[in-house]
Amino acid sequence: MRSAPQSSARHRAQRGGQTIVFLLMALTVLVFIFLWNVDLHRIVAGKSLSQNAGDAAALAAARWQGTTLNLIGELNLMHALALSAGDTDAVDAVTNLQARLSFTGPMTALVAAQVAAKNNRIYTDADFTALMRRHADDVSRYDTPVAGGVLFPEPYAGAWDAYARMLADIAADGIAAAPDNARFYNDAPGNHILRDPAFYDAVAGRIWCWFYLHPTASRNPVRTMLDDFTDHSWWGPLPQPDPPSFENAEIFGLGLVSHPVSLERLMTPEAFQVGAAQQAIDLTGFVQTNVMPVVERWYFYHPTAWQAWTIMNPDGPDAFPIAGPVKPEYDYTGADAVIRLHAQVTRLTPSAGTPDRHDDLLWTAAAKPFGYLETDDSTGLKLRPDAFGLVLPAFREIRLIPVDAASGGATGSFDIHWRRHLDEHLPLYVATGRLDDDCRYCRRIATFQDAAFRQQGRDWLLHNHGLCTLPGGGGGGRGGGTRRGH
Ligand SMILES: [Zn+2]
Repeated sequence: MRSAPQSSARHRAQRGGQTIVFLLMALTVLVFIFLWNVDLHRIVAGKSLSQNAGDAAALAAARWQGTTLNLIGELNLMHALALSAGDTDAVDAVTNLQARLSFTGPMTALVAAQVAAKNNRIYTDADFTALMRRHADDVSRYDTPVAGGVLFPEPYAGAWDAYARMLADIAADGIAAAPDNARFYNDAPGNHILRDPAFYDAVAGRIWCWFYLHPTASRNPVRTMLDDFTDHSWWGPLPQPDPPSFENAEIFGLGLVSHPVSLERLMTPEAFQVGAAQQAIDLTGFVQTNVMPVVERWYFYHPTAWQAWTIMNPDGPDAFPIAGPVKPEYDYTGADAVIRLHAQVTRLTPSAGTPDRHDDLLWTAAAKPFGYLETDDSTGLKLRPDAFGLVLPAFREIRLIPVDAASGGATGSFDIHWRRHLDEHLPLYVATGRLDDDCRYCRRIATFQDAAFRQQGRDWLLHNHGLCTLPGGGGGGRGGGTRRGH
């Protein structure tokens, strides 16, 4: 028997049930939105935390680079004064101090970067610290005897022991801000396809033009490494370490070099006048002394480290997106600091792939000391700090710069996965063909080794190689592209 009231009561109950279900669903969604909002807030806060810390660490390091360069410049002036006073002990002490400062200055920069990062609540990174500790061990073996001398000659007696100890001490406190543009003496240069990050990007993104622009044999008909590759032995031996200079620290190096040379061969005394004017040291009459022909060891800017800052030229080959050209007196490469750091954010909501609810935020930042030499107060003409070659006190300020415009900005010295691939996987792979399944770079080599992958690229290039043009109408050298991006 059916009755209308019964039916409507059931309906009401049903509707009530639906309402509760709906409310519960809405509540769940609201709770999730709330939690997600908290997460979003945490991630944004973490991002700005890591950004502040990275910028502060890079600025702190660059400040010490500038200070050290000024000190070495002041010592060049003191050297001249001691020379004209005939004080040979002081002369020796000055050059010795300059050699040591080239290492202790950058080490102070490294410490300052750690302090700045930790003050901004970025904590020690276990991988960074382990890499630094391992490198300190490597440095302690830099004086290993080899045929014809030692592995890497010391810039001053006992340098490697002292330098290794400094690195070990810094590592003992933990590395929070990693020096990402470091170039270790035992690092091999990048001029091998397997050491070029662009190769891995090309494989991952199927950027077939990259292979066309990096031919390994004749390009007629279209013939690239996609055609030529046979097996792991095809790549050729990996390059051996080729250190640029032993006078500069590997981390935050200043790009200096010392030469024994006489002042009269070196230059007109103008450079000293400029430096002395800035320092308010009276060097009048210096030219009349008998020190001009004396051969002495002076500190110079290394000409390959200090060059025009072409990457920052908006009209240059890299077409850097800046509003206008860099002021002439600031247009130089040279000493700068790139920092890599991680901040961890704990989420309330789960997300795919990361069950532990931790997000690792990466931040890289770069800073550089800037300055100029003033020639004359009346003209106000400003010169690059390295205008005379000789190091003079010139650095006045520090600025953040784009990471990609920093020297060695694409190195990624403390990109732990990349580093592990270069140092551990590649030597094994080239020798035996073994790849590491857990390494994304190894997996890309495996992709390249797949004949079907290479055939896909060959087919594409056969018809489309006309689309491949060299960037900027020339060059097309290695290292195009960047590993970075915040
Ligand atoms: Zn690998």
